[in-house]
Amino acid sequence: MSLTFEHTTLGQRVLFGTGQAGENLASEIARLGAQRVMVIASTSQSAVAESITKDVDVALNYADVAPHVPLEKAQKGRAAAAELGIDLLVCVGGGSTIGLAKAIAMTSGLPIVAVPTTYAGSEATNVWGLTMDARKTTGVDDKVLPVTVIYDARLTLALPVGLSVASGLNALAHCVDSMWAPRADPINQTLAAEGIRALNRGLRTIKRDLHDRDGREETLYGAYLSAVAFASAGSGIHHKICHVVGGAYNMPHAHTHAAVLPYVLAFNAPFAPEAERRIAAAFGSDTAVEGLSALRAALDAPTALKDYGLAEENIPEAAQLILPFIPASNPRTVTVENLEALLTAAWSGTTPGL
Ligand code: NAD
Repeated sequence: MSLTFEHTTLGQRVLFGTGQAGENLASEIARLGAQRVMVIASTSQSAVAESITKDVDVALNYADVAPHVPLEKAQKGRAAAAELGIDLLVCVGGGSTIGLAKAIAMTSGLPIVAVPTTYAGSEATNVWGLTMDARKTTGVDDKVLPVTVIYDARLTLALPVGLSVASGLNALAHCVDSMWAPRADPINQTLAAEGIRALNRGLRTIKRDLHDRDGREETLYGAYLSAVAFASAGSGIHHKICHVVGGAYNMPHAHTHAAVLPYVLAFNAPFAPEAERRIAAAFGSDTAVEGLSALRAALDAPTALKDYGLAEENIPEAAQLILPFIPASNPRTVTVENLEALLTAAWSGTTPGL
């Protein structure tokens, strides 16, 4: 077998330790020599942020966070950082909070230390997103990659079961889509496979006991791997579908990913034997589809896009909007017809693959 590929590894420091976020943050701020720290956390995560910044001299606590980073929120955050001469952004929260820090870093070049509290994975990518006039734009810029990520499973204990499951399946979708994304290679596929293995175990444990430390740690570890794989491999068909429908019909990010994933896997798997083999092995199941179905059943995963804001009459328009974004690397030829069939099945929640 010939092994020829091009791979880029993004440079980022990761500090992983349960109960250690406060201490790790203080030492990281000292290491970076920051004097004017802006801490970004939404009001729902402000107590968590306070608990880990007790020993930090904070110049600005900032809570004006909104989903999908509206441009006006980004501009306000940029102005606040500039006015106070901020030299380091610390963000504590999910993808929306990290997204605001990225939007500020994008124009200011300020470094980011990210402390994630969900499994969305934005902390490990160089991808930014901004919403203008109800349209989300994304782009890649190494300036927005956090210099350091601090993972602390204790901070995820309050993530409710529904959001833990949806967010964890969002991470799983990064892994699955990495198998056939435009820059898929043996390195990011290996990271993705290990991510699937960790998420499959971690999420089942969390579902049984939300406060299980091992389950939370394993899921966080899997979420990190998923994001590294995704950042390296790029967006595949799954992310293009979720990005377009999520933006066009204002659907919740994690739940949309969780509901669409089994349909994309069933759609592509017969045309991607190597990916199918890797995914099945990572699940420890006979086939990739069976492995994902068993996990979803154990988790009571979101099943139907109709529950999250997609109307049946939107499907033909959605298929037309998505088609131009489907990567040429996709193993199965995608047409308006088979895309409509995939969306219709995902909309209704019928069993994928049948
Ligand atoms: P989110 O950040 O909007 O958080 C969802 C909800 O969970 C919010 O109400 C938040 O306050 C709450 N929350 C967060 N952590 C919590 C905790 N530990 N306990 C209790 N509640 C908690 O959602 P998300 O799914 O984390 O992120 C989605 C956003 O991130 C989307 O805009 C998506 O496009 C973006 N994203 C970007 C990238 C990237 O690489 N740029 C990757 C993944 C996701």
